[in-house]
This record gives sequence, structure tokens and C-alpha cells, in this order.
Amino acid sequence: MEPTVDRAFIRRAVELADLDAVRVALYQHTGDPEAAALPRAVRLTEQERELLVGKAVDWLAAHAGPGMPEEPPEQELRALMAMATGEDMTDLEFEARRDIAAFKPYPWYVDWTGERPVLPEGFKAVVVGSGFNGLAMGVQFERLGIPYVVLDRRPEPGGTWSINRYPGIRVDTASITYEFSFEKNHPWTEYFAQGAEVRAYLEQMAKKYGVLANTRFGTTMTRAVFDEARNVWVLDVTTPEGTETLEANILVNAVGTFANPKIPEFEGRDGFRGLIVHPSRWPDDLDLTGKRVAVIGNGSTGVQLLAPIAEHAARVHVFQRTPQWISPREKYGAAIEPETRWLLDNFPGYWNWARYTSVASLFGTHGFLIPDEEWQAGGGTFNAMNDKLRDDLTAYITAQTGGRQDLVDRLVPDYAPFSRRPVVDNGWYRSLTRDNVELVTDSITRLTETGIETPDGTVREVDVIIAATGFEVAKYLWPAAYAGKDGIDIHDFWSADGARAYLGMMVPEFPNMFMLYGPNSQPLSGGTSLPMWYVIWASYVGQLTVRMLEDGASRVEVTPAAYERYNKALDAEASRLLLLQDYGAPEKNYYVNKSGRLQVNAPWYGPDFHRMCTQVDWTDLTVT
Ligand code: NAP
Repeated sequence: MEPTVDRAFIRRAVELADLDAVRVALYQHTGDPEAAALPRAVRLTEQERELLVGKAVDWLAAHAGPGMPEEPPEQELRALMAMATGEDMTDLEFEARRDIAAFKPYPWYVDWTGERPVLPEGFKAVVVGSGFNGLAMGVQFERLGIPYVVLDRRPEPGGTWSINRYPGIRVDTASITYEFSFEKNHPWTEYFAQGAEVRAYLEQMAKKYGVLANTRFGTTMTRAVFDEARNVWVLDVTTPEGTETLEANILVNAVGTFANPKIPEFEGRDGFRGLIVHPSRWPDDLDLTGKRVAVIGNGSTGVQLLAPIAEHAARVHVFQRTPQWISPREKYGAAIEPETRWLLDNFPGYWNWARYTSVASLFGTHGFLIPDEEWQAGGGTFNAMNDKLRDDLTAYITAQTGGRQDLVDRLVPDYAPFSRRPVVDNGWYRSLTRDNVELVTDSITRLTETGIETPDGTVREVDVIIAATGFEVAKYLWPAAYAGKDGIDIHDFWSADGARAYLGMMVPEFPNMFMLYGPNSQPLSGGTSLPMWYVIWASYVGQLTVRMLEDGASRVEVTPAAYERYNKALDAEASRLLLLQDYGAPEKNYYVNKSGRLQVNAPWYGPDFHRMCTQVDWTDLTVT
């Protein structure tokens, strides 16, 4: 039912809103110098807040209506961005951040430089995976009019959002940042959307932009072999009907980092008579009401699912091997109020600036990762901002557990925040204080037929074990086999110290092949909207494909020298960061592989990595 929009409703909408975004959107419409002169929301006095709210309500009462403003001219845009955060930025930062507010639908996607050339007979791209990245790639090929097919082993698009359906699953970055610029202001019902809603968003987007019509579900690629004579990838695929061979002039692997679940081979695992469930294989009909349950793991998954399970289970034993820094997010789990939905839909520019400020809250995160020797010489542990965060989060743990020292002692990590992937609290600490929940920090010796045994011989009898034990993250492009030039196997190519790539996307000896979200590509810092990166990577592939076709060429590859140089610089950059230092506990981090290399993240400051991925350095590539 449509709400009645009167002045009181509008006022409530503004009071609930992000006032930094309100101020910038208002100024964009009015040019009101009084609005421009106000400080950021956190520093507003009561009187200033009232002034801003009053101005916004007045403007909305007279002008509210659907629409989205045109992107302002560059200088004006930059000034508005600075107004939103209260800080100016470098040219490089401006370049990386200008499209976060997403006024333009397709800021990065590429087009032909002139007329679309006649494509070689039968030219085709194959994209493996229809998660966020595969869909972003499909939209780029759609826009170029390049024939393509997306393959996915599952029956629907969504990738990780199709796979993961465990209780409590939701995004842990704000929904507003988790949408494509060409499909924006989605009517999310929650500030942090639940998994099913993200899945539905991707499905309708895939349909609307034509990608769904070019997708073959239930189709698994098992082997890819590069035919050097023809510059074509020959792919073995299995389908419900049997096996088949496909050919791809361009092969894009968008197969995800979290595609293969990892369940440890606990002694006695096969003899356990109860149920062992990995969250990514959650049975539709699993009812834990009244059950005795063990949850192993306290990563993002284990932490997300504990509270909903603990509400129904008879008893839950939480097995924690390593404590995590788990932090709260404002409005996590909260519904988007009708007033806020109205504001997003009827205050042109508000959506854009609310997205910008949401992402901007992470602009400074790189600072958590760089050690400060002077600070350490003065008695500090790592650097001022990281130490402060550690103290704040320790206070949070104490507050959430009601000051229970027996818990606090076991929950506060001995490594620094931001060493590992930040985990968002879904009532996890509070759940540990429930009567039916026990935190177990003893290791697991073995599974008996009916429970889990710890070193002191105690057996906790359980009906169900939830193994929230993570994914085979280090194994990129696995389990499919890839043979490049001279038949070289990708896993042999990477055997020295794990998977590497140029810009996370390309590997020499494997021409015409790309990875999206490949090794060392996950942006570590600097403020990001992940879908923005997905589009940037897809458009990088788009640029190289366009160049190849416009040049009448049939092969594009990275030079071995560029690959080596890039990776040397990347390793040097990574070695400066917290994650590879003792206080970052690298041995406990799935971002770091068995050889001690940072393998998942791009260690670069976000805007630097942005430039590398958006301004193609053709001297690093050969197009023949
Ligand atoms: P994870 O972060 O790798 O956590 C696995 C957990 O299992 C850790 O606590 C680990 O302990 C524990 N574990 C593994 N093997 C064990 C063993 N043999 N014995 C005892 N404990 C063991 O996996 P995840 O929680 O599935 O998360 C993976 C990633 O998926 C996240 O980092 C995130 O990027 C993504 N994710 C995102 C969302 C979201 O955005 N909403 C939600 C879920 C997941 P140790 O710490 O000691 O290794």
C-alpha cells in the first residue's frame, strides 16, 4: 500500500536519512550556500541539524518526485564529492571515485572505436560462471554485440548467491553499494539484503539485459585446451544429456573464489551417524528445532548462521579454533522503512550520494594495514588507528558478552583487526551468552559415532554438525583442467608458489583467456563497491577483445616480462602490509597461501589498482 505522504512523513524520512547525502543532494538542486557551509553529519550541532532537516523538508514538500539527476560537470562533481566526505582528494582518487555515485549507467563499459567490424565467421566468447562477474561480463558482450554463451553448472544464475542458502545469509556490505550502476536503486527491503533478494536481483537483471537468454545451465566445463594453430580454446563440457565440445575465441573464467567447499577430514568423519552439513550445501528441509548441533568455524558464514540456529536448536556447541575480530554494522538486519524507500525514490540524487557516503566510509581502510614504526617505538602495537580499533572492538566484545570474563578471555584475538577478512556480527557474541549455547575452544580430536571429542576426552553428543569451515580458496580454476601453449597445465604453471596473474586476470602461456576475481584481485582497501569492480574487470576484457577484433588479430596475451614485473611489484607491496607480518597472523589467513604469499587480495591502494585496471597498458600485451 502506498504511504500517505504529508509533511510529517517527509520529515520522518529526512530524519531517518543519511544527512551527509541529504545535504549534498539538496545542494545539487539548490546551490544553497548555507547547506554547503554546514559540517558533516557527525559534527552537526542540534541547531544545524534542524536547519538542514528543515531545508530538506521544505524542498521535498515542493519538488519531490522520481528521477535521477544528470551527472554534474567534472569540477562540480568533484566539489560535491568533497562536500560529502568533508575532505578533498587527489586526482587519482577522483578518477577512482567519480563513478561510485553512479550517475551514469555504464561508466566503464567499452564500445567499438568506430563502426562495429565484421566479426570472423563463428567468433564466440565463452564465459564460465553466472555469478556477479559472469553476468557483468555478459552485459559487456551484449553491449558490443559479440556472440557469447555463459555456462553454469547450477540451474540458475547467482553463483555464490545461488549456492549459499543457509539461515541468516545476507550481504555484509550495504545493499545500496551491492548493485550495478546500470540497474540501480533496486527496491531492497533491508539495508543489508538477504540472500534470496540478492539472488532475485541477479536473476531479473540477467533476464532484462539479455544474459539469461545466452546462458546454458546445468553445464559444467571440465577441460579447456588451447589450440595454438587456430587461437581457439576447445572446451569439454558435461550436460545432463552427456558430454560435448565447444569452442571459444575468448574464454572468461568467472568461476568464483568460494565455489568449492572445504570440510576437514576429521578422524572418524565417515563413522559419524548424524548429519554433517557444509553451509553451502544446506538441505532445503533441514529442521534444527530441538536438535543438538555443533557449529564448527567462526568465519563470516559461521558467525552469520549461529543466531538463527540457536533460537530453535536444543543446544549448540560453537567450536572456535581462532578468535575473530567481529564488528557491528549500523542497520544490519533492519528493514528499509517506507519513509526511506520513498526518499530514495523521490529525492533525486539522494540514492547516489547515500551510496557514495556508504562506500566513502571505507576510503581510509588502507591506513589500518600500514605499520607505523614511530608509533611502535613509543609503545604502540601496530599503528594508531589499528590500535584504536582493537580497543574499540575489545570493548564491544566485553559489552556484548555482558562482561563475562570467561568468554572475553577466549574471544579477543591476539592479532590485529584487518589482518583477515572483517567479520560482521549477526548477534554472534550475544548468542554465546544464551543458556543453550556453549563456546568450545578446545581442538577437535575426532568424531565419534555420536559426537565430537576434544583432547580431554569429553564427547559432546550432537545430531548435526554444521561445518562452516570455509572454501578451497587457494585452488583457483579448480577442478577443471586448463592446457595452454605447448599443452602446459595451469596448475603446473602455478606450482612454484600458488596462483598468480597479471592484474588478477591474465596468465602468459594462456592467450585469449581471462579470470574475473582471479588471484590477487580482491580489492583490499580504499573504499569499493564490488559490483563496480566486476564491471571494470569485464570492461578490461572488453577493451582487449575490441582491440583484437578491430586489428583483425586473433590472439591477445600478456607478455611473460610484464607478468613477472607486475608480480614482483605486487609481492613487494604485499610484504609491507599487516597481513604478511607477525602481528597479522598470516598463517591463519586464507588470503595467504601455503607458500606464504598473499594470493587473494590486490595489495594496492584502491585508486592505484583502479587505474591499472581501467587504463590498459598496451606495452604489457601482445595482440597478434
Ligand atoms: P572462513 O572465513 O574460511 O572460515 C572458516 C572457519 O572454519 C574458521 O573459523 C576456521 O578456523 C574454521 N575451521 C576450518 N577448518 C577447521 C578445522 N579443521 N577445525 C576447526 N575449525 C576449522 O569461511 P567462511 O566463513 O565460509 O567465509 C569465507 C568467505 O566467504 C568470507 O571470508 C567472505 O569473504 C565470504 N562470505 C561472505 C558473506 C557475506 O558477505 N555476507 C557471508 C559468508 C561468507 P581458523 O580461523 O582457525 O582457520
